[in-house]
Amino acid sequence: MRVLKFGGTSVGDAERIRGVVEIVRGRAQRGPTLVVVSAQSGVTNQLIALAERAAAGPVEPSALRNRLEALIAELGLEEGLVEEELDELETLLRGITMVGDLTPRSLDRMMSFGERCSARIVAAAMRSAGLPAWPYMAYDVGLVTDATYGGAHVEASSYAKIAEELGPVLKEGLLPVVTGFIAKDGDGYLTTLGRGGSDYSAAIFGAAMGADEIEIWTDVDGVMSADPRIVPEARSLDRMSFSEAAELAYYGAKVIHPATIQPAVWKNIPIRVLNTMRPEHPGTLVLREVGGAAPGVRSIASKGGITAVHVTSLRMLLQYGFMRRMFEVFDRRKVVIDMISTSEVSVSVTTDHPGDLAALTQELAEFAEVRVEHDRAILCLVGEGLRESKDVLARIFATLERENVAVRMVSVGASRINVSLLVDTADERRAVQALHREFFKA
Ligand code: ASP
Ligand code: MG
Repeated sequence: MRVLKFGGTSVGDAERIRGVVEIVRGRAQRGPTLVVVSAQSGVTNQLIALAERAAAGPVEPSALRNRLEALIAELGLEEGLVEEELDELETLLRGITMVGDLTPRSLDRMMSFGERCSARIVAAAMRSAGLPAWPYMAYDVGLVTDATYGGAHVEASSYAKIAEELGPVLKEGLLPVVTGFIAKDGDGYLTTLGRGGSDYSAAIFGAAMGADEIEIWTDVDGVMSADPRIVPEARSLDRMSFSEAAELAYYGAKVIHPATIQPAVWKNIPIRVLNTMRPEHPGTLVLREVGGAAPGVRSIASKGGITAVHVTSLRMLLQYGFMRRMFEVFDRRKVVIDMISTSEVSVSVTTDHPGDLAALTQELAEFAEVRVEHDRAILCLVGEGLRESKDVLARIFATLERENVAVRMVSVGASRINVSLLVDTADERRAVQALHREFFKA
C-alpha cells in the first residue's frame, strides 16, 4: 500500500485539488492508497492569528469562512460541508475571548480546524469525481499523542490501533483521506504535531500500515542540488539517503524533516518527494541506503542570518569544567547551537536564534572573553562519503579562494556526509553559485 501526503499549496485552491484528485486516481488503480492532507496554505497561520486576536477581544472568522465556502462552491461540492467545523470555531473563539487568555491547549484546538476542513473538502472532491473516498480525523482512527501541545509525540500504541482501524477500510477498497498535523492526547484533548507536522502524520500512518512507499507531494521537483532561487540551473536529485536529507533539513523546508520522517526510517519505508504541478516528474527518492552512488557533493545548502559567538579564555579553556560552564549558559538561555569549532584557547559556535544576546554575552563574559559576529551565513555541502573523498575539501577552498570569499569557520563533522563553512552573508550567494558550478558541471 501507499501513503500520499499533500501539502498546503497542493490543496490550496480548486484547480490544485482537481489535480490532486487525478494523481490519487492514478495511484489508487495500482493498489491500496491512503491520503494525508494538510490545511489549505495559509490557513494554519490565519487560525493562529484569529486565536491571538480573540484573546484581546471579539473576532469573526469571516475571511476564513469566505475562503473555504468559495473553495467548496468552486469545486461544486455540497454547501455546508464544513459548517459544523466553522460553528465550532466560532464558539471556541468566543470562549477564548470570554476567558481572555489563549492556552496552548486551546491554540491546538484552534489549529485543528484547518486540517479537519481540508480532509472534508478533499474527500468530497474525490467522491464527486467518482472515487470511493472518505474523510477521517486522525484521532478517530487511532492516532494518540502525549499532551505536549504544539509539538506532540506519537504514543507507541497508536501504530497497532491505526492498523486495526484502517486495515479493514483499505481492504474494502475505500480511499481514506486522513487529517495531517493533528491528533488527540490520552485525555481526548486535541493536539498538534508541530508546524509542518503533516509529514510526520504521513510517516506515522505509513509505518502503521506497513506502506511500501510514502509520497510527499509538494510544489518542487523533489530535493534539489541547491536552492533554485540562488542557483537557477540547480537540478533535482533522483535519490538520496535519509541521513543526507536530515543534514539538509536545517536549511529550510525544501526537504522533509528528520524528526518527522523517523517512523518511516524506523520501518525502512522509502519516501518519494514529488511535485503536484508536474506529476510526471520522478522527483527524489529518499532511502536508507543510496548504494552505488559515487561519493561526492550531492547538494549545497545555505542559510543567512547567522550569529557567531567566539569565546576565548587563555587561562581556563583547557581546564575541565570550562565547556560545561559555557554550554550551560547557552542551555539556560535556550540558544540552539548549530556549528562548533575549537582551538587551544577559544571555542566558536553559531546560532540562528541568539535570543537575548546581550544577556548571553554578559553571562559568558563573567569567565571568558566574548566576541560576537553578525551577518554570517552557513554553507553546507552534503553527500554520502564526502569526508572520504580526498579532493573535496581542496576543491571547496580553491573555489572560495578564486571567488575571494573569506571562510570564517569550518566544520568537517563526525558525520561522513557534511562539510559546513561560515562566510559573510554578503558572500553567500556568490559562494553557493561558485561551489555549484564546481561540483555540478553540466
Ligand atoms: N497545517 C500545518 C502547518 O501549517 C501542518 C502542515 O502543513 O504540515 O504547519
Ligand atoms: Mg510542509
